[in-house]
Amino acid sequence: MAYVVTDACSGCRYTECVTVCPVECFHIDDRMTYIDPENCIDCGGCAPACPVGAILADYLVPADKREWIGINRNRAGETPVVSARLPPLPGAEERRRMLGA
Ligand code: SF4
Ligand code: SF4
Repeated sequence: MAYVVTDACSGCRYTECVTVCPVECFHIDDRMTYIDPENCIDCGGCAPACPVGAILADYLVPADKREWIGINRNRAGETPVVSARLPPLPGAEERRRMLGA
């Protein structure tokens, strides 16, 4: 099992999740974060830390978002680790309101 970042992260990238992960398994690109499933120890700390509810345990990912399991695995292999909080992307607050979070 591992935790998965879904599309709700795309465009906001608040990175609160990064600060609570004990094993530095978050990776980042210019759009969002991804969890490396090989490093994730399933502690669950990141899920409640995300203000837009973008992070789910893989067995709870709904059918229409299952593709994100593979996307996290692939993108984690292609992007750098992020272990410190970064400023949210421009428009993140608006997006948060749009998501009802
Ligand atoms: S806290 Fe949520 S929105 Fe922010 S980077 Fe992490 S997964 Fe994305
Ligand atoms: S579940 Fe724990 S180990 Fe896995 S990404 Fe979240 S904070 Fe990191």
